[in-house]
Amino acid sequence: MKAKKFVFAAVAAGALLLSGCAGGGAAGDGGGDSGLIGVAMPTKSSERWIADGNAVKAALEDEGYSVDLQYAEDDIPTQVSQIENMITKGAEALIVASIDGTTLSEVLQTAADADIPVIAYDRLIKGTENVDYYATFDNFLVGQQQAWTVLNGLGLTDLEGNPTDGAPAGPFNIELFAGSLDDNNAFFFFDGAMDVLQPYIDEGTLVVKSGQTDIEQVATLRWDGETAQSRMEDILTANYSDGTEVDAVLSPYDGISRGIISALTDAGYSVGEDWPIISGQDAEVDSVKAILSGEQYATIFKDTRELAKVAAGMAVALLNDEEPEVNDTETYDNDVKVVPSYLLAPVPVIKDNVEEALVDTGYWTEEDLGL
Ligand code: BGC
Repeated sequence: MKAKKFVFAAVAAGALLLSGCAGGGAAGDGGGDSGLIGVAMPTKSSERWIADGNAVKAALEDEGYSVDLQYAEDDIPTQVSQIENMITKGAEALIVASIDGTTLSEVLQTAADADIPVIAYDRLIKGTENVDYYATFDNFLVGQQQAWTVLNGLGLTDLEGNPTDGAPAGPFNIELFAGSLDDNNAFFFFDGAMDVLQPYIDEGTLVVKSGQTDIEQVATLRWDGETAQSRMEDILTANYSDGTEVDAVLSPYDGISRGIISALTDAGYSVGEDWPIISGQDAEVDSVKAILSGEQYATIFKDTRELAKVAAGMAVALLNDEEPEVNDTETYDNDVKVVPSYLLAPVPVIKDNVEEALVDTGYWTEEDLGL
């Protein structure tokens, strides 16, 4: 309930930012100030970024801006040159979801020299003073929610981490996955999850048979599903060939979960029998279907439409000499400064609330999900 209120407040904030930016002109006319805004997204290989890009573009176009939207297929030099091009074309602001948050310092210096404000989108841009604002979700909470969904699937807690009466004693075998080490979010998700899971590991309710519990050991470069699949295969061969079974897998992203599911299927696990509890993130359509069919236990829904509104609103506010609204000025230190941020609330989704969280909100239709 609390999470929901947070989302609604953020929607209102997003709407306010946008309408506040019309600068007294008729809504949607961009205050007569419209220009070009560059939007750099990491990859089209994941649905969420396509949805993000389209939503940011639509929000800016509604305000009368034209938009240069580019995807870099997870290639760092491509993203750098796309941003250079945006600057050359005269972009007045940049909204950037980085591939590697540490590789943009030079191109963002060029932007700063041309007085172009920069909004970090979803992923923090690190190691530069030339990032003005950050629009994202509460990423530590995302990690906690991922862990709570795993504990919930095992019958240990509810979705907010409150212990269940008469919870089973375990022990349960769990394996851990994290995201890409060049993405600051990967650390927040993993730290949030371990904040929840570590006490259960310490008391022996959860056992990590592979012994791999450091983020460096469990990370997945570029969040790649195939990389995760082969790591899961290796783990199963090395640690579960003796007849023991894995009961749960902490996965930080739906694409990684799908790789884990393939490895389990290939190793002979089957849904409804010995199938483990698997977490996820992003509510990608195939993964929501996997939740409905029981292959994946949960995902974390982050409403990209709201994130897009907040980020677009920040850019438009800056171009109108207004101060963007933020709700966090402490958490996101990029090694040069703390970047003022607006955090939206993530929502855990299991089979029981797919309809309420994803269909009733219009994020997916029943047809999309095959309902
Ligand atoms: C995003 C996640 C996403 C991941 C992989 C992270 O930075 O916050 O929503 O699952 O990247 O694309």
